[in-house]
Amino acid sequence: MSTRAHWMRRANEALGELSTSPCPFSAFGTAVVNHTGTNGLGDLICLGVNENRQTGNPALHGEIAAIQNCTDILTDPQGRFRLTPLKALNAFADLTLYTNAESCPMCASAIRWAGFKEYVYGTSIDTLVRNGWGQIRISSHEVFQASSDLSSSTRLIGGVLASETNPFFLWQFNSSYPCPGGCSRSEATGRCRAIKRDEL
Ligand SMILES: [Zn+2]
Repeated sequence: MSTRAHWMRRANEALGELSTSPCPFSAFGTAVVNHTGTNGLGDLICLGVNENRQTGNPALHGEIAAIQNCTDILTDPQGRFRLTPLKALNAFADLTLYTNAESCPMCASAIRWAGFKEYVYGTSIDTLVRNGWGQIRISSHEVFQASSDLSSSTRLIGGVLASETNPFFLWQFNSSYPCPGGCSRSEATGRCRAIKRDEL
């Protein structure tokens, strides 16, 4: 369990590394890890965060961004792996995707198409909806049940470290909820934003 918690924390921390803020509005972070090697904790392959607002691409949710980033890393001719496209496709069967919130049906479908070995999420879609997020209400469990014709199988593990992932999603539509660590409410916009160094 501590291994799962370690990588779920890494998915949270991806926000501060790949976003301009540790508390972006769309606080969806992903870490992709290979647990099949000899390193007990696992080998981090790539990270991803929601990049809708950074890129203008509405499909770049954290999981899709991570799949893109991992593909780039796996096939980089100067990189660690130098895989052909076909070998990169097959490599996903050894990988575990950690995301700090349950995937929307688009991303859950992409996870099944990729054939990940495991998919681990923190905060549930139900929790997102209860806290004001617009969501397409199809659970990952439902997507997985409907994907049994695919040749791959993916283990689904939900609710991991939700006590630490939930705070990233509970402040956006509730102005009295405290901001995630390192952030404070802007009096002008009401949004959480990174505390500048000179304010610390
Ligand atoms: Zn999604």
